[in-house]
Amino acid sequence: MELLIYSESEMEQLGEKIALVLDENDLVYLIGELGAGKTTLVRGIVRGRGYPGRVTSPTFTLMNVYDLGNSQINHFDFYRLTGSEIYDLGLEDYLDRQGISLIEWPQAGEGYLPREALFIYISLVEDDYDRERKVSLEAFAPEYMDRIKELQKLC
Ligand code: ADP
Ligand code: MG
Repeated sequence: MELLIYSESEMEQLGEKIALVLDENDLVYLIGELGAGKTTLVRGIVRGRGYPGRVTSPTFTLMNVYDLGNSQINHFDFYRLTGSEIYDLGLEDYLDRQGISLIEWPQAGEGYLPREALFIYISLVEDDYDRERKVSLEAFAPEYMDRIKELQKLC
């Protein structure tokens, strides 16, 4: 599934729609260069799940947890990490735990991270470098393909 997004607020709105199709324990990867809009999309997803507070980049903190009362969202940014550092984090424990996990820059953890996930690619579009973004959603696992089908109905 592919979409063109023309503004930051439209990216947040897409996140809110994605929030509607995710399940309680889902795993989402966000792939795209710095400034592509990964954190912006995460902000929409987190708000869409009902979190009222601030959503900022975990580039330096590595991980932000958004408490939703009876569940949570784990937001990671692996930009600064190597694969073995990610392994040392004990990431599997997080992924097994309750909550949606949203991972920016998952390429850093290649080989350690499961392929059963929703893959979201964001790229800048040359014509309108400032604002226009191409967003592609892909999945290999059937349950995540279903999420994409659900999202298509909303877009
Ligand atoms: P990343 O997490 O991929 O590094 P951020 O979401 O932190 O990116 O930053 C994206 C930047 O691009 C923000 O400054 C935002 O205002 C800007 N921007 C411009 N157009 C868009 C768009 N269509 N979608 C998302 N962000 C956009
Ligand atoms: Mg970011």
